[in-house]
Amino acid sequence: LVQLYIPLNFMGMLYREIKQALIDIEDMFRIIERNPEIEDRPNAKPLQASNGVVRFEDVHFAYIPERPILKGVSFEVPAGHTVAIVGPSGAGKSTISRLLFRFYEPTSGRILIDGQDIADVQQASLRKVIGMVPQDTVLFNDTIGYNVQYGRWDASAEEVREAARLAQIDRFIGQLPEGYDTPVGERGLKLSGGEKQRVAIARTILKGPPILVLDEATSALDTFTEKEIQDALDRVSRGRTTLVIAHRLSTVIGADEIIVLDQGRIVERGTHASLLAQGGVYAAMWNRQRQVDEARETLKRVEQEA
Ligand code: ATP
Repeated sequence: LVQLYIPLNFMGMLYREIKQALIDIEDMFRIIERNPEIEDRPNAKPLQASNGVVRFEDVHFAYIPERPILKGVSFEVPAGHTVAIVGPSGAGKSTISRLLFRFYEPTSGRILIDGQDIADVQQASLRKVIGMVPQDTVLFNDTIGYNVQYGRWDASAEEVREAARLAQIDRFIGQLPEGYDTPVGERGLKLSGGEKQRVAIARTILKGPPILVLDEATSALDTFTEKEIQDALDRVSRGRTTLVIAHRLSTVIGADEIIVLDQGRIVERGTHASLLAQGGVYAAMWNRQRQVDEARETLKRVEQEA
């Protein structure tokens, strides 16, 4: 039996490794699709991350030369702090997260992590220290457990469950017909946007990176789901350097600093309270959003009463 066990065990290992390699290739293609020109420099070194301080220094960027998107963006996210980027649609918020991942390179200026220019480090080492909760999470055609485990292959079943619990998706999984073994994705159970985002949060909790990028979903979630996701995000970002790309304002109130981006420039920065007191762009955005939220609530009440 032992003789049989060893090769079987080995094959299991091999299977997992091949599967991981395939996923890495999938990731790679996704990256290549975005931009084939970004390559490691010949003498690129691995990033030596310690506290995870993120710094943008006078970053300029354009997808196409005649249309500048970022026009001199400078800010720092101190270790363990949360900085939120807000601003109108098209201001360049998500572009900032793409540059931090080095899907693209700045036209000029630098992006540093713990004092190292990310253009000089190996991309694999860069992506290892950054956890990303994207707007739209793509699920693999596999079980929901597998989709969480993807965050870290050597995590125990107990750690997977704990991550799911922190991401507030454990109760949902518990109610599925086959629990963690329930197939999801294109060929399995379809998850809602909020559920998918919580799977992504659980994955990131398992990965445990020093730096987090949260690119919020643009689509409106219902208030309950939004609160659940916010709680999960608060937990995962605690003690980590966090950059929130905020498409809604309700999620940024607690940030250490809010940066208001407009047409590729930082036009205001400060805490929620100081920006409201300033009565500028942020305050106007905040008031507008409140009116929209109130209108939405009224509409819902009227619909329920009808
Ligand atoms: P939203 O809140 O609507 O998501 P955003 O502030 O995150 O907006 P970005 O996604 O950073 O905006 O996009 C900034 C600008 O860059 C937009 O005008 C967009 O059309 C343009 N843009 C984004 N991606 C590309 C691309 N791959 N090629 C060319 N232009 C692009």
